[in-house]
Amino acid sequence: MHIASLKQLPIREGKRVLVRADLNVPLDKHGNITDDTRIRESLPTIQYLLKKKAIILLLSHLGRPQGVDESLRTDAIAARLEQLLKQHVIKLDDCVGAEVEDHINEMHSGEVCVLENVRFHPEEEANDDAFGRGLAETADFYVNDAFGSSHRAHASIASVPQHIPGAAGLLLDKELTMLGKALAPRKPFIVVLGGAKVSDKIGVIENLAKKADKILIGGAMMFTFLKAAGNTVGNSKLEQDKAALAKKLLAKYRNKLVLPDDVVIAKKADAKAAAKIVSTAAIPAGWMGLDIGPKTIAQFITELKKAKTVMWNGPMGMFELAPFANGTKKIAQAIAQLRATTIVGGGDSAAAVQQWKLAKKFSHVSTGGGASLEFLEGKKLPGIAALEASALRFGLSK
Ligand code: ADP
Ligand code: MG
Repeated sequence: MHIASLKQLPIREGKRVLVRADLNVPLDKHGNITDDTRIRESLPTIQYLLKKKAIILLLSHLGRPQGVDESLRTDAIAARLEQLLKQHVIKLDDCVGAEVEDHINEMHSGEVCVLENVRFHPEEEANDDAFGRGLAETADFYVNDAFGSSHRAHASIASVPQHIPGAAGLLLDKELTMLGKALAPRKPFIVVLGGAKVSDKIGVIENLAKKADKILIGGAMMFTFLKAAGNTVGNSKLEQDKAALAKKLLAKYRNKLVLPDDVVIAKKADAKAAAKIVSTAAIPAGWMGLDIGPKTIAQFITELKKAKTVMWNGPMGMFELAPFANGTKKIAQAIAQLRATTIVGGGDSAAAVQQWKLAKKFSHVSTGGGASLEFLEGKKLPGIAALEASALRFGLSK
């Protein structure tokens, strides 16, 4: 089974190409893009298609809307793309249906359009095949350049390439090549996990533990584990329904999972909050843990120095606020200095690495968070499986 690459698609002038990109950029509370990495990472594929004089239709999700959500429209993305491409970018207010098709039929070769947030339609996440067919009807070819979404069997990822010929975009290609290097990691292989999306990430620990020598746990994720280990965690962010799983993992992988010894706490998650450092065994009621402490940083760095391969996903603390940024910064700097294969994944983690100008010092900054973790677990991503099926169905060569 193989997937076709973008250059194998017979794209000629005027052909409509639907590009499922991952333009799910972080926004501040005013709707401004705080990190445009994902848009910039999508440029090589867009520029290739511009050279081919195609009609380029960009499709992405943005955030987690429940139906139409005014704050999650893709207008800011279109505006930023217009600056980056230095050419006009059309923005449509939907991604499917007769009106959208009418607009697209009026487009000329070399024009770019950003479609509306695909998750405004619940059919997207339900992987509704009729919806996928509707999306496919707007185009002649499909390109998946959304590595960060390829672990989800959603219609724009899994269904569309069953209806029109589909191939991997240049970014997806690069991600698969770079992450492929970590599939058979040189040992010791150290995984660093943090961030806030515990329920998304805790499931991968079981699989990663088989390959990893150590899994260092920080971020909000640590409190679910600390609680499971019998600690009190005050008002720290907890995912109570994962406590049983955390307890099981702790018992099974006692020698691999490393939990923090100390933690930076505050009464409020606030840039001006008075913070202090306490043992993770003594988090007082009414306080919340917002970063790993100095002892933990030193311990994590000791482990990291032994590594030949490092996979890092999820900030060690609420790094957006200065009093809680130290853990993430110190760990990022330590990983950046290693002579090892170093991979960072996850939108917020990648943003942290960009912010401290460390990106070039990593072997690879993946645009995929969950996708990079699942890929490293050795799972076949639904988006990749769909491209394989598309190559077979439409007779596309490698
Ligand atoms: P990524 O995007 O890298 O996969 P996540 O989305 O899982 O990471 O989590 C990133 C978020 O986790 C950041 O916004 C950060 O503020 C938050 N975070 C990290 N540590 C904590 C903590 N101790 N308490 C609350 N939030 C935290
Ligand atoms: Mg995130």
